[in-house]
Amino acid sequence: MAFVSSGYNPDKPMENRISDIGPRDFNEFMPPVIKNNFGKWLYHEILEPGVLVHVAESGDEVYTVRCGTARLMSITLIREMCDIADKHCEGFLRFTTRNNVEFMVDSKDKMVALKEDLMSRKFDGGSYKFPVGGTGAGISNIVHTQGWVHCHTPATDASGTVKVIMDDLFEEFTGHNMPAPVRIAVACCLNMCGACHCSDIAVVGIHRKPPLIDHEYLDNLCEIPLAVASCPTGAVRPSKVEIDGKQFKTVAIKEERCMFCGNCYTMCPSLPLSDKEGDGIALMVGGKVSNRISMPKFSKVVVAFIPNEPPRWPTLTKTIRNIVEVYKADANKYERLGDWAERIGWERFFEKTGIEFTPHLIDDFRDPAYYTWRQSTQFKF
Ligand code: SF4
Ligand code: SF4
Repeated sequence: MAFVSSGYNPDKPMENRISDIGPRDFNEFMPPVIKNNFGKWLYHEILEPGVLVHVAESGDEVYTVRCGTARLMSITLIREMCDIADKHCEGFLRFTTRNNVEFMVDSKDKMVALKEDLMSRKFDGGSYKFPVGGTGAGISNIVHTQGWVHCHTPATDASGTVKVIMDDLFEEFTGHNMPAPVRIAVACCLNMCGACHCSDIAVVGIHRKPPLIDHEYLDNLCEIPLAVASCPTGAVRPSKVEIDGKQFKTVAIKEERCMFCGNCYTMCPSLPLSDKEGDGIALMVGGKVSNRISMPKFSKVVVAFIPNEPPRWPTLTKTIRNIVEVYKADANKYERLGDWAERIGWERFFEKTGIEFTPHLIDDFRDPAYYTWRQSTQFKF
């Protein structure tokens, strides 16, 4: 397409420049029933999976229908959401903190028509465009990252792994069959963009090989002290190498100290480490952010490595499904996955799930590792 100017003048880049205006005020986008009853809600009920009703002091009701989304979406799909909102909801809609979409109406009849419309919409391949669910003690959307779609440091993909897990657990999205909500998150590298460190189940991309070192370009592309300081285990040190009689300033990596975090690559483009066979997934469980009954918890590594198996990641989905099923059958009502594992003891978690306990799972990172070992004779055979 030929160039079409927006009116911006590259010869005077600062002329007519608007900056620091911030986001639009959320009040501009409130449905009337929300605006009128703001701060005056009495109670709410979950009518069925994916459908809530909030009742205000005035007696006003607002029905909310929550639908799954893929998070990564086209303008075409967003326009379709807008059409739905125009048809049923006076043009209003919202997105949740887990990237579901919520449509709101002010009567039960409207809710029934809206839900029917949403469930009738499918892609050509057969997938639901707007599956209704994600409420209560079920499995809502997976908080996830960029993966091979856009980032340069991933050890696995995000959109792909998320689609196969949600396919496998779809009936848990559209049901309330869990002891408590199960939050699943995916991060494609240990930077853990998102919620992996505090989710009931977390998928994290990991490497298993140290970085390659592009000695000839490293000093031109990298600030060497930054790469040295980026290493959590002190495996990187400055060094010099000679190639074809030419001296290069570079770094050396002590491979037996490297645990493949990839942090030095984030700082220095000459230290790439992604690898088809080496890379894969670590599975963590037992995290939560709420203060409900027990304090918030970090998730803990329970499977050190699952290979990348695009496009359907069968080992990954099987492993997660097994954890979900065992937790569902064994946990008490209201018990989050971490509450359950801590009550029965982690040795029982491994016994019940049949997951192999390997030395990889024993913390060996600095002084705090000691506190993760067992200073007690209290354990079950
Ligand atoms: S988790 Fe890592 S690889 Fe994934 S988007 Fe964040 S930084 Fe990139
Ligand atoms: S990958 Fe991580 S542990 Fe290995 S050298 Fe780089 S920063 Fe250090």
